[in-house]
Amino acid sequence: MGANTSGYYFMSRRTIIAIASILAVLAVVLPLAGIAVYARHSASEYEKRHLEEYAGWTLKRTERSLNFARGAIRQLEREGLSGCSPAQIARMRQLTLETRSVEEIGYFIDGRLACTGWGKVRQPVAAGTPDLRFEDGYGLHLRMRTKLSGGLTMNTLSHGSYNALMHPDSMIDVLTDTAMTLGIASLDGRVIAVSGPVAPGLLKRVASANAASSGREGRLMYASVANDHLRAFAISDYSLAEKRADGALWYLVPLGLATSALLVGLVLLASRQRLSPQNELAIAVRKREFVTRYQPIIELATGLCVGAEALIRWERPDGASISPEMFIPLAEDTGLIEPLTDIVIERVVADLAQWLGENAGIHIAINISSADMQSGRFLAVLAKALAEADVSPAQIWLEATERGFMNAAAARATIERARQAGHIVAIDDFGTGYSSLSLLETLPLDTLKIDKSFVDAIGTQAATSVVIPHIIEMGHGLNFKIVAEGVETEAQEAYLREAGVEFVQGWRYSKALTAQEFRVFHERTNRPG
Ligand code: C2E
Ligand code: MG
Ligand code: MG
Repeated sequence: MGANTSGYYFMSRRTIIAIASILAVLAVVLPLAGIAVYARHSASEYEKRHLEEYAGWTLKRTERSLNFARGAIRQLEREGLSGCSPAQIARMRQLTLETRSVEEIGYFIDGRLACTGWGKVRQPVAAGTPDLRFEDGYGLHLRMRTKLSGGLTMNTLSHGSYNALMHPDSMIDVLTDTAMTLGIASLDGRVIAVSGPVAPGLLKRVASANAASSGREGRLMYASVANDHLRAFAISDYSLAEKRADGALWYLVPLGLATSALLVGLVLLASRQRLSPQNELAIAVRKREFVTRYQPIIELATGLCVGAEALIRWERPDGASISPEMFIPLAEDTGLIEPLTDIVIERVVADLAQWLGENAGIHIAINISSADMQSGRFLAVLAKALAEADVSPAQIWLEATERGFMNAAAARATIERARQAGHIVAIDDFGTGYSSLSLLETLPLDTLKIDKSFVDAIGTQAATSVVIPHIIEMGHGLNFKIVAEGVETEAQEAYLREAGVEFVQGWRYSKALTAQEFRVFHERTNRPG
């Protein structure tokens, strides 16, 4: 990557294609990866909320069960039956049957179980201290083993002389729509009931007072909800969330593919933009994919080769040679023309500096664009290159088209500087533009190049054929030397010679040649005798 003289960044074709390919791959991979992550994440979030919801219901269920048991005890206390009278036993039995969450009701005398709804107790059991005490004075004993419950551990709610035996499952029997384990614990982390087997470590952490309200541990997910005295929790397998995520992929994957397609499209568009003709040209300028050819200029009076015009060619790496007519206008529009002028200067010096030193009478004409004429910047580049190569500035002519003179003040300044440096300045393609006669009179020019279109008209009935004598006359009137371009035929040459035109250039003499060919041409043409 680098900055060219027009100031914008560009990359080589290979870099653009490499970057575009990487971006295209990312454009496919990232949306799909993003969607997979998103599907997992949202499924996990969903599962957490699902668990929280069930923990909430579990909490309500426990509260309801406890309230039923409280209600039964409160009823007996209100009725005020005392001792283990048959009435007391009958009433306890009836309330046991009536109260859904209660398995058995007991009556205590002096801290020992004296009778239950089933009759008197033969071996009285001590009441013990409750594991949990509620604000209203009720206590909860956990993991009680009773005769009635067989091997099962039960919970009991106690108050005053009564207690109510409760099956733990009845406290948490909430129906779930997916496999999950529900549980209830005291706020200090003692498990009151749990609906299935849970690893003790996890159970401890989930039920503990400072447990996060939700989380994941290994393959298990959990969530918990607490109120003032209880905490309910729900645990499920992570595979549920995974299954849900996989399900979501059915509609997310097409979405991801559509996004990928869109992004790939954008990448292609951007890289096409990067590979646009103007960027191609910018790359070519940076890589200096340009050469110059030299078209000989002949002096009519002597037939000698007096110089050549340097003509640029774009030699693409694929071997194609592109005409300046294809890329000069683009270069002019995109600010690349000045770097191109620099390249031509560099090439001319590299090709011919030494030879020019040996052939002092020879000149090379370089085409100068209107942007160059405006800025005059190239003059410093040229001066430096010529000084370094020890070439006389008088041997470098500058050709500018009429468009270069549109800003007359800038053109005048550049022409004057060029002439001071020792160059000869020519107006190129004369007659095809819109320069006024007064401009020609006032600009300090030396040479006029008649455009090929006028030379073509010589000897024909074309309207332009009547113009050429006037151009020649006017040019000589202003003391210009005249070069006729595009001379192809003997008749054209005869006419120009007759009219007193000094120099000619065209296929009649030679096409544009390589530097080596041009030197050979010059030697052959100028050989004495
Ligand atoms: P130009 O400066 O008027 O150059 C003369 C063009 O006429 C050249 O075309 C040359 O090959 C062509 N030509 C010369 N003799 C004949 C002939 O007898 N018959 C025919 N049919 N054509 C002939 P080329 O090399 O394609 O250049 C075209 C134009 O591109 C040039 O016109 C010039 O305006 C521009 N150009 C070329 N090189 C440069 C350069 O280094 N810098 C700038 N700014 N413009 C350049
Ligand atoms: Mg020219
Ligand atoms: Mg020309």
